[in-house]
Amino acid sequence: MALREVLLGPIYIARALLTTFKHNTRPIVTIEYPERQKAVPPRERGKHILHRYADGLEKCVGCELCAIACPVGCIVVEAAENPGERYAKRYEINLLRCIYCGMCEEACPYDAITMGPRYDLADDHPDKFIAVKEDMLEPLSASVGDTAVPSGAPSAQPVPRKW
Ligand code: SF4
Ligand code: SF4
Repeated sequence: MALREVLLGPIYIARALLTTFKHNTRPIVTIEYPERQKAVPPRERGKHILHRYADGLEKCVGCELCAIACPVGCIVVEAAENPGERYAKRYEINLLRCIYCGMCEEACPYDAITMGPRYDLADDHPDKFIAVKEDMLEPLSASVGDTAVPSGAPSAQPVPRKW
């Protein structure tokens, strides 16, 4: 070992320790995912959300305009009727084909669908990427405070499971 390396060795070690201590004093940026999720920008296009009116009635009337506007054809809508109202009996999006372009929310005349802040889309089987209506429908409590006016008819829509 050269004499120069022997003499400079302690200096190198001191510099390395200094770098370590410098990083120890910096704020921690690691997020404990999935318990905590990173905040996303307000216009983030994540997994779709189907919205409700303040009384819990689903805004979607099953008009299929979103499906027509979708450039990759990954939306399937089947409408049904309750007395005095129309709603989407079946609403599915193939998230593997979706390109998250936002055309569906642009096309919707009732603001029934938006691209939400959810980015945790990984899963272990292709079948799990077919998002059904119950996956996307916002919880009943989330519609409180919505000032949009629903139709007068009482809803006979099925109660969705929690997402
Ligand atoms: S974001 Fe674009 S590709 Fe995805 S469902 Fe909506 S219209 Fe279709
Ligand atoms: S989400 Fe909007 S555009 Fe699509 S079927 Fe429902 S009401 Fe029509």
